[in-house]
Amino acid sequence: MAQLTDDCFAFAGGLLPIEEVERILRERVRPVAEVETVPLGAAYGRVIAHDVTAPIDLPPFDNSAVDGYAVRAADLAEAADTRLAIAGRASAGHPAAGALAPGAATRIFTGAPMPEGADTVFMQEDVKPDGGLVMVPPGLAAGANRRLAGEDVRAGAVLLPAGRRLSAADVALAAAVGLTQLPVRRRIRVAVLSTGDEIVEPGAARPSAALFDANRFLLAGLLTGLGAQPTDLGIVRDDQDRLKQAIAAAAQRHDIVLTSGGVSTGEADHVRTAVDAIGRLVFWRVAVKPGRPVAMGVIPGAAGGSAAFLGLPGNPVAVFVTFARIVRPLWARLAGAELAPLVPLPVRATFAYRKRKGRREYVRVALRRGADGVIEAVKHAQDGAGVITSLTETHGLIELMDATTVVAPGDSVGFLPYAALVG
Ligand code: AMP
Ligand code: MG
Repeated sequence: MAQLTDDCFAFAGGLLPIEEVERILRERVRPVAEVETVPLGAAYGRVIAHDVTAPIDLPPFDNSAVDGYAVRAADLAEAADTRLAIAGRASAGHPAAGALAPGAATRIFTGAPMPEGADTVFMQEDVKPDGGLVMVPPGLAAGANRRLAGEDVRAGAVLLPAGRRLSAADVALAAAVGLTQLPVRRRIRVAVLSTGDEIVEPGAARPSAALFDANRFLLAGLLTGLGAQPTDLGIVRDDQDRLKQAIAAAAQRHDIVLTSGGVSTGEADHVRTAVDAIGRLVFWRVAVKPGRPVAMGVIPGAAGGSAAFLGLPGNPVAVFVTFARIVRPLWARLAGAELAPLVPLPVRATFAYRKRKGRREYVRVALRRGADGVIEAVKHAQDGAGVITSLTETHGLIELMDATTVVAPGDSVGFLPYAALVG
């Protein structure tokens, strides 16, 4: 069960800037304590619980980076070819029998250990073998084409820092130093439910005024992508008692309870009052578009713990944006994961846009290369927050900062690719 401090947590109305949301999460949410050890094969996507150090140097021994001839640099003439006797052979997995004698060269292949005494390797394309001899040209720097033991990682150095979410390359690194298992935090359990009298399960009979549920599928996919463990709790009607029941029950078994819809101020929007009744509301309006009505709360959980509640808006694009900017950082805090900072890449706007000061806005765009070679952002033709194809037909979001009020064609704007936002 997650531990959330809920003292001095409540926020007194108004639109909460996105930085404030981030600050609240940073200060108030602690990582889950449970750590488990997983074999390398199951480690991809998990979060390292404490620093893991390298038990050996990588590479473990000096070796050749090319196929060719290993030599002593001290034997080489500065301005003329040098003739060396070929003595010995080293290939991957098969070291040379002995040390390299002065005036000699060892035939060597990529990955073979450097013979003792040798410090430099000529590529075979660059030399002229001549019977039992080889002619090597001048000008090759001492140490060329040699990989030093420990040049990748030194024994004892931090290999994987606490908070690292394991990429394929991270797992490969752990394997390369001979580790077989890694300490990771347990997965974050997230209950996902949709709300709305108009929402029905895909495949069910659809009354004429009903919509098939898209949000649960969107959220399940996004959560799985983070390495969280989603539980599908279905659809709940716009009914305060049922919402209270469903959210309170979900809080017993999950770290996060995630809903979509019903969080605005319409007559059928009961999520906020339900959360207020069974737990504590932290905030319910964030200065972000799309996404403004998004509620955070703390709900009592099992064993004296608590679950974090996030009530996202109903429109799928708003769900996506609030997932990226609020759910994902909350998950990261609970999971003990260090997220890479979001760094918007400068691209050229092809569109004009006006926005209100004091809120963060996200514009769905596709990228293309302009006639002059500069990367341009093309705004999707439909900007409704319910238009799901505006997500599937674009590459990412332009982030317009709180102070911005206008964008003109030709302006440089910041692009965040979808992979960076939700990966
Ligand atoms: P609400 O926040 O409940 O007012 O919902 C805003 C809009 O999102 C409405 O048009 C809803 O029909 C739509 N919506 C709510 N939940 C879902 C869902 N699970 N899948 C697709 N659309 C939804
Ligand atoms: Mg609704």
